[in-house]
Amino acid sequence: MPYMKEHIDSGIYASLGVVLLLAIGHLRGFIPTANDLFTMSLFAVIMITLGSDLPDIDSRTAPIHKIFQILVPGAVILISLVMLKLDIMLSLVHGIVALVFYTKLMPGHRQFVHTMRAGILSGGIVAILLHSVFGSLVLSVWSGFCLTFGYFVHLAKDRWVRI
Ligand SMILES: [Zn+2]
Repeated sequence: MPYMKEHIDSGIYASLGVVLLLAIGHLRGFIPTANDLFTMSLFAVIMITLGSDLPDIDSRTAPIHKIFQILVPGAVILISLVMLKLDIMLSLVHGIVALVFYTKLMPGHRQFVHTMRAGILSGGIVAILLHSVFGSLVLSVWSGFCLTFGYFVHLAKDRWVRI
């Protein structure tokens, strides 16, 4: 197993550092309300922790690879059924095609997915997805930024700690 626990631990520590900075920002008046502080902290912890394990999506033995192997076709089926209002058989075919693409097109371990460009790209995709769901520009950009930060924490740990 490609060190999921170690990566998630470092993501949690990094996110606690960010929450501390946010709390200082709140005390200094940069973040006006306690509600904003709570929401930004919550999204920071979730996104940084997710980002800190996300690069190992390219390792076929990693739990996160297997989780997304279910999530990606599931999301495609839901989008086909609910948003595009296609019939169930066509939606299932889309899900199977998504599964084949996910499995066949995934680069090898520690190639493109383990680059800073992939981290920035993932943050951008998350920002766009969250903006389409929540509609809040600040929260979606913040979430994308946090995911990219967590992603970089993973890359740094792979590179310098050599786990
Ligand atoms: Zn890695």
